[in-house]
Amino acid sequence: MIYLDNNATTPVDERVLAEMLPFFSQRFGNAASRHALGVEASNAVKKAREQVASLLHCWADDLVFTSGATEAINLAIKGVAFAKRSKGQHIVTVSTEHSAVIDTCRFLEELGYEVTYLPVQSDGILDLEVVADAIRTDTILVSVMYVNNETGVIQSIKEIAALAHEKGALFMSDATQAVGKFPISLKELGVDLLAFSGHKFYGPKGIGVLYRDANVVLTPLIHGGGHERGLRSGTLNVPLIVGLGKACEIANYEMGQNEVHIRVLRDKFEEKILRLQGTSINGCLIKRLYNTSNVWFKGINAEKIIMMLQDISMSSGSACTALIMEPSHVIAAMHGIGAAEESIRFSFGKTLTLKEVDLTSDSIEQLHHRLRT
Ligand SMILES: *Cc1c(COP(=O)(O)O)cnc(C)c1O
Repeated sequence: MIYLDNNATTPVDERVLAEMLPFFSQRFGNAASRHALGVEASNAVKKAREQVASLLHCWADDLVFTSGATEAINLAIKGVAFAKRSKGQHIVTVSTEHSAVIDTCRFLEELGYEVTYLPVQSDGILDLEVVADAIRTDTILVSVMYVNNETGVIQSIKEIAALAHEKGALFMSDATQAVGKFPISLKELGVDLLAFSGHKFYGPKGIGVLYRDANVVLTPLIHGGGHERGLRSGTLNVPLIVGLGKACEIANYEMGQNEVHIRVLRDKFEEKILRLQGTSINGCLIKRLYNTSNVWFKGINAEKIIMMLQDISMSSGSACTALIMEPSHVIAAMHGIGAAEESIRFSFGKTLTLKEVDLTSDSIEQLHHRLRT
């Protein structure tokens, strides 16, 4: 099995697992309890919060632990929408966002909010003038993802945050594919809200974070004991929080060397694939994360390649759309639905070897010759 689907999820790093394990059994305390076991758990959460804050260059107190990026995104978008209802009911986002953002916005439309879904250019990049023109005086929130999960395309978050602020709107970013991959300084970016998940960078599934600038008022989605500054009630999931913290610490030290390794593999792969007739890369080649390769195989149905190479994990379209494999709405927004049906995402990770990548490009090459004749 060759795993080329690291944008869907990654394996838990052994060091992360080792850090988490004691917190399931011996150190099982409730972080809200006052006794010794509780204090131990609460200290572990505190340490993890500091590890996240040090990766993102923000205040530990501005971080809210959630069950993942999806929940963090829901809390950010609905939280702003509900809190700002009297100020305005207009939200600006992008047609190539993850379904967690798109579907949350669609839900708000049902409640009477108005949402503008901006188009992207054919390279997946947002035109800043288009963004500026879409923001109105009644716009409460602009939500633009940092790195696209299907193409790796990187948006100019800092500039877009500034455009939102100029018109008095808040800015939120789904940074699920960005965190842990390259240095991020929340102090510099000027975003108000930022969401991500642990399992996209070798942490556990089911844990994520919403960063919220202390000045931003959110209406919580989950009410109860008032945990996480009242923004997310419920007993803290200490083992997963500890794991997320450790994943952040490791990423902080190792993201540079990971980048070097992964970029070499990705570029070698693309070099070989692009020699095949009719292939091209979807997404801006310059503003693109080093781990993603979205290939358009013109004239070939992508499902055929995926079905015939069962030992290689790759992805067409949005795997997140439950059981139905729909062509990618991201590639469709860039090149049309036909291109979406002929494109495959390969996403590389730190555990991959050059040998595995060569095996993959060789298999695709052989299959490509067969499918085109
Ligand atoms: C994976 C992903 C999500 C959702 O993360 P969950 O852990 O499933 O909640 C959201 N946005 C992007 C860009 C993603 O890649």
